[in-house]
This record gives sequence, C-alpha cells and structure tokens, in this order.
Amino acid sequence: MIPDLEAGCSLSDSITLDELKNWKKQHPNAIAVGYVNTTAEIKSELDYCCTSSNAVNVVNAIPKDKEILFLPDMFLGSYVAKVTGRKNMHIWAGECHVHAGITPDDVTKKLDSLKDSEFVIHPECSCTTPMLYDLASGSFKDRNVSILSTEGMLNKAKDSKAKNFVVATETGILYRMRKENPDKTFVPASDKAECQHMKMNTLEKVYDSIVQDKYEVIVPKEIADKARLAIDRMLAIS
Ligand code: SF4
Repeated sequence: MIPDLEAGCSLSDSITLDELKNWKKQHPNAIAVGYVNTTAEIKSELDYCCTSSNAVNVVNAIPKDKEILFLPDMFLGSYVAKVTGRKNMHIWAGECHVHAGITPDDVTKKLDSLKDSEFVIHPECSCTTPMLYDLASGSFKDRNVSILSTEGMLNKAKDSKAKNFVVATETGILYRMRKENPDKTFVPASDKAECQHMKMNTLEKVYDSIVQDKYEVIVPKEIADKARLAIDRMLAIS
C-alpha cells in the first residue's frame, strides 16, 4: 500500500531502468549492487540489494577482481569504496535532494554551538550517507562520534554523561529522545534533513490506506521474482 501517490523519492528517481541497462551494457562483467531506495524494476536488474549498514559487507562478499556498479547513492558508494579500499567500483552520480544539502561545515557548526556534545549517526537513514562519507574521509576526527542503531541511540542518550547531542537520522527520533531525557539537549545534525515525500505519508493517510485499501501497489510477478533474488542475496550476507 502507498498512502499518497505523490510520495516518491528523489534518490530512487535518480536512475531509470534504461539508464541502468545501458550502464550494464558498458560493463558486461560487472556485478550490480543497488541501495534499497530503488524501484522493484531497478532491483530486478541488480545482483545484490544493500542498505547503508550492510553495504560494506555486501561489497566485501564480491570477489576482488570483479568490477562493481554501485547505485544510485553516490555518497554511500564513495563511503563504501573508501572503507573497502575497492578500486574497481563504478559509482552512479545519484543523490537525494534532502541529504545533498548537508555539509560537514553544517554539522561542525552544530557541534561547536553545544558544549561537549556527542555526535550520533544512524547508518540506516539514507539522509546520513554524506556524513558516513565525511567521517570515513577524516572529518569529525576530534569529535565524539558513534554510529548506532535506533535502540543504540536511545541507550546512548540515556547512559552517556554528555548533556548535549547532535543527532543524524530522521528527525522523528528526537521526540522520543527528548521525552526520555528531559534534562538533555538533542538537536538534528541538519535542519535541512526533512523529506517532503516522507512527510506526505501522514497518520490520517496511513489510516485511510489501511481502512479503504488504497493505494495498492501491484508488482508484476516476473519483476518481483527477479527483484527478490537481489534481496535474498543481500539477506544471506548480512
Ligand atoms: S529523504 Fe526522501 S528523497 Fe531522500 S532518500 Fe529518503 S525518501 Fe528519498
């Protein structure tokens, strides 16, 4: 079900099926790895799907002599290439309009504005991939940085002696962090990290979608079967 037909994703839109097919033709022996924010059609052309937190493991599982086509997030691709030291990765120049605007300077200013702040990054949020890349490139090296799951972030907020936190993830988690730790301060890593697509999926529309069965997404079986292969291969690794 999709609660609002207008709720798309600019990252997913940054590669079309024809573009991927042409790219594969130019590199006929390459293994295609694609981030989870892609359409079912795109996934049906992939060898592996990946998320931000398992992308390094997926790439490391591919024999070193094999070329890799990594799509569509250029920040995640550059981060994975840096961490794995892989030189034979071709990276699609796609990006999400939300996270493309976040720079290390924005984050550093936030950290500087709060005394002894901790910087926590959620690797599963597509908005944080530029920050993972910046971190791997040496930015924030004098800072107190942790890469944590949602539960890890909530535990850190509770257990840490720090009073101030800069949080890189979907801004919704800040509500729970503030509620559970009223004596501490939590600010988003970037005020720009709000996705107008995600915000279209309101609680009311989710309710209508479930109660009125709208709008059902039907993926043709042959596409679903091929797309599932890329997802199953990812799950076998992670
Ligand atoms: S923030 Fe929005 S546009 Fe960006 S990857 Fe997520 S869903 Fe797509």
